Parts: sequence; structure tokens; C-alpha cells
Amino acid sequence: MKKEGMLVIISGPSGAGKGTVVTELIKTGEFSLSISATTRKPRPGEIDGTHYYFYDKETFETMQKKNQLLEWAEFCGNYYGTPRKYVEKQMAEGKNVILEIEVQGALQIKELYPECVLVFLIPPNLEELGRRLIKRGTEDKQTINRRIHRALEEMEFILQYDYIVINETIQKATEDICAIVKAESMKSSRNTKIKEQFKGEIELC
Ligand code: 5GP
Repeated sequence: MKKEGMLVIISGPSGAGKGTVVTELIKTGEFSLSISATTRKPRPGEIDGTHYYFYDKETFETMQKKNQLLEWAEFCGNYYGTPRKYVEKQMAEGKNVILEIEVQGALQIKELYPECVLVFLIPPNLEELGRRLIKRGTEDKQTINRRIHRALEEMEFILQYDYIVINETIQKATEDICAIVKAESMKSSRNTKIKEQFKGEIELC
């Protein structure tokens, strides 16, 4: 019996390991990944159309005006947004879609799609978060401080999320999120057509 696709939102502070966990989730073959648009400059190794769609401010603002973004937010001086078309198409095809986005965007999506699943990924402790950001080596000291400050602000929203996953190891966090999605997919509210189908089959007997 075909289940409807689900929107799975992964948020969490910079350095929580969201990117790595999302890569592992995609490898399971159970999810499609929405590629965001951003005005941030690419980091070394980041590819346009793979990691992000990198746009200038003007292009991003045109997308906003044309309603081509499902949600958008400003984060540490740059714009980030989810292109609408891809997500709507994947969901219409019954696929689970992952959005790796910050809290303001996540809450906008919850308004639009109340049935979406909000997962907040956190590192085991704040020290670990700073350590991971420094180890990543892609940001200067000022940006790292800004992101740590923002991480503290984002933690304020944690209770608005459906699930909190602690990223002790990538494998465990990936398994935890898969378990959440599996349980969510079995919720009766997501399977309203089953009753009708069984009734139909019984009538045929
Ligand atoms: P980064 O610059 O580290 O790639 O991303 C900064 C923050 O922006 C992260 O918290 C990331 O999850 C978030 N982000 C990435 N894409 C989007 C998006 O499309 N919309 C929103 N609202 N946040 C995003």
C-alpha cells in the first residue's frame, strides 16, 4: 500500500553535524534532499546545484517576490530559502523530502504543512559544538563566534520541535532519525486511506 511522502525538517546549531547526518540519511535511499538557495559565498569544495544554489542578493529577492520559495530566512548576514517547485513535486510523487534548515524557516514550514516532522539535532555539549566549528576550518573567528551566539538563540526554539536527537555518533543519530520517520509513517493520521481500502476489499469477499 503506497504511503504519502513526508516532509522531514532537520535543524540544529552550526557544528551539530546536520550536513553529515543528512548525507547518511540520503544514502539510505529513503529520502529526497531539497537543495536550498543562498546568498552565502560557497565554501571550498561546495558545488553550485549540489550543496546549494548560490545566488546574488538580487536574484534571491526576485525568487522571493515571485513566490518561488516555500520559506526563507536571514541567517548570520545571508539569505537562505527552500525552492518551492522541487519539494512540491517530490511530495506529489509520494517521496519523503528532507529540508536541512534553520529554526525560522522550520516554523514557517510547520505553518504551511502542519503534518511535517521537525527534528532538532544537537551535539552532546556546547564545547563539542565550538570544537567542531573550529575543526571544520571553513569560518573565521568572528563568524564562528556569531554562529555560536546564534546557536544559543536557536536552542530557545527547541521545544517547538517534535523530536530532539543528540548527535553522539553519526550512525546512531542517522538510525534515530530513520526510526522517527518509520514510526511517523505508521501514524493512523497518515494512513487514513487504509480503512477505505480494507472496507472495499471486505466487500469484494
Ligand atoms: P550554512 O551556511 O552553515 O550552510 O547554513 C547556515 C544555516 O542555514 C544552517 O542552520 C542551515 O540549516 C540553514 N539553511 C540552509 N538552507 C536553508 C534554507 O533553505 N532555509 C532556511 N531557513 N535555512 C537554511
